[in-house]
Amino acid sequence: MSSSAGGGIRKLYPGEMAESVYAYDFDGALKKGIKGVLFDIDNTLVPHDAPADDRARALMEELRARGLSLGLVSNNHEPRVKSFSEACGGLDYVFLSHKPKPDAYLRLCRKLGLSASQVIFFGDQLFTDIWGANNAGIHSILVEPIDKSTDIPRIKLKRQLEKPILCLYKKRFFL
Ligand SMILES: [Mg+2]
Repeated sequence: MSSSAGGGIRKLYPGEMAESVYAYDFDGALKKGIKGVLFDIDNTLVPHDAPADDRARALMEELRARGLSLGLVSNNHEPRVKSFSEACGGLDYVFLSHKPKPDAYLRLCRKLGLSASQVIFFGDQLFTDIWGANNAGIHSILVEPIDKSTDIPRIKLKRQLEKPILCLYKKRFFL
């Protein structure tokens, strides 16, 4: 692989991989000075198009109690994102966010009064979530999709395209 190709692909590499938002070391993030957490919703917090469940609500409550500012960055439509936010006690959000463009991430950071370097972002897809957070200069964390069987066809296809990139990433960082 040429170095220029490597440079391009690296924009798709997550800053970090985690099994789940529900098993993440938020204490560690707080110790590093993180003040805010942004989330994708579908297959990051709940299955695609599923409403907020007890686990999601409890996580938001816990993070809020630790003083973290929270936000949702979703490419889904407003009714879906708004109702999810309300079920979690009212989180700031951006719907139809046009990830991987960085604008929505940065708009949400401004709304929370934080800089890109003070927040972390969780998502389950490379070509939207991770690429977008990287474009915004936000630490990106790729999580395992909650339930891949709920993916819409467009996302199922993208997961196939993600495979070779994740393979390169894992070779680069874990072998
Ligand atoms: Mg997703």
